[in-house]
Amino acid sequence: MLDNLNPNPGAGPLVRRARALAKAEFAKSDQGDTSSRSAYKVCAVALDLTSNDSVAMFSGNFGFKQLLQLPNIGGGRKGDVTSGITTFLKSPGGGAFTEEQINKIAYAQHDRGAMNCAEPKVWFSLTDRKLSTRNWVLIPFAKQDGELVYSPPCENCRRWVYGHFHFLSRLTAVSYGGPGALAPGNLRKK
Ligand SMILES: [Zn+2]
Repeated sequence: MLDNLNPNPGAGPLVRRARALAKAEFAKSDQGDTSSRSAYKVCAVALDLTSNDSVAMFSGNFGFKQLLQLPNIGGGRKGDVTSGITTFLKSPGGGAFTEEQINKIAYAQHDRGAMNCAEPKVWFSLTDRKLSTRNWVLIPFAKQDGELVYSPPCENCRRWVYGHFHFLSRLTAVSYGGPGALAPGNLRKK
């Protein structure tokens, strides 16, 4: 297990595996995506420590599209997805966000609501399958100058992800995310 925490970038086997999965997802999603917003796109990978199962979800609308294409969710359940994620993010364990913080602006420096991120989509895809997120390690990536870099959960997501995903998710953020990776951040205003 400790081998997974090797602080050299890309050196831990879990991070390496997650990076390969994220790379494949970015390659798929970049096809035909020329919007400038893709610069902020995060792909959150979650690895099941009890099997070889994995999921990879993007932030933003692309992530919602991905969710609605999953066989267990399906296109007819868009309302389920948004109301399920909203209910969760309002709950004490989900960060206790208000409706406005969920949809518009909350704590994150990216100035987008808590719903916008990749992490709530990963949470929904797993809990909808009745899987326990505690067995899953969350490892998000972003693209910087064409390179995939570890992207620690933002100030919105860090309010809840470490209470739900396997503790290695937090240790990965500490090892790879830099000194500010766990800082709570302040409530932001438009
Ligand atoms: Zn986030």
